[in-house]
Amino acid sequence: MDFTGKTAIITGGASGIGRAVVEGIIRGGGSAVIADINEEAARAAQKELGGNTHVYALDISDPVGIRSAFARIIEDLKRIDILVNNAGIVSTKSFDALSDVDWEKVIRLNLTGTFTACSAVYGHMKANGGGSIVNIASVAGKVGGGLLGTAAYASSKAGVIGLSKAIAREGGPFGIRCNAVCPAYTVTAMTQSITDNAEFTERIVKMIPLGRGAQPAEIANMILFFASGLASFVTGEIGDVDGGLTRDG
Ligand code: NAD
Repeated sequence: MDFTGKTAIITGGASGIGRAVVEGIIRGGGSAVIADINEEAARAAQKELGGNTHVYALDISDPVGIRSAFARIIEDLKRIDILVNNAGIVSTKSFDALSDVDWEKVIRLNLTGTFTACSAVYGHMKANGGGSIVNIASVAGKVGGGLLGTAAYASSKAGVIGLSKAIAREGGPFGIRCNAVCPAYTVTAMTQSITDNAEFTERIVKMIPLGRGAQPAEIANMILFFASGLASFVTGEIGDVDGGLTRDG
């Protein structure tokens, strides 16, 4: 996919799905901002991937920090065309063990962090005549929990789906497209507990018609499509990349 002349911010771009997106943007001739809490991993990814990459350390659970980091990125790079809200954490606590603190932590990072990042770039995209936002939700947001994530995670990702549709609706007149992607089990650090446990893996993949977990690049392909000019008339869409798990039309 062609990203020539485009600059993209990828939150959580240091590893897993985010890193695969960074790779795709660079391969397409674009410039990628790795915005991650783990600066060391972000610098390592930058070194390994090469290409036109920039690293900014940022904590997506800190709204003030996001706004100041985004202002700095816009000042430094002048133009942001694409935002991929990928940073996220999973919560696996059963409902009766879920405390107010656990709930708040997951909602703050996965949902409020996505809101703040969208909000921090929206005015800039509006002034530029448009842009493309891709938010990473999850099958958990559609079916009340994922193969790993439970209530707080499911609620945060359902919120991301609603937020993406709302931004698509309001941003359309300004040329701002907003779509979301719902992965199922993808082999990354987040799902290490599945991957490391053969019995758990077998139970999980039985629910997936394609019979396996995804590689990060397979999720990145749909994210990159939504981000790219190929999806110029696609907005408010929720793309499942789940091996057939959800099948909800
Ligand atoms: P990962 O754990 O491999 O990578 C997450 C990245 O986000 C890391 O680089 C990490 O440093 C960064 N990060 C974590 N907290 C952060 C914070 N507070 N501020 C900034 N960056 C932070 O995860 P992944 O599996 O690649 O997941 C990426 C996205 O995909 C997440 O939103 C996740 O919920 C979603 N997702 C993953 C799966 C899966 O099976 N892996 C399934 C569905 C949805």
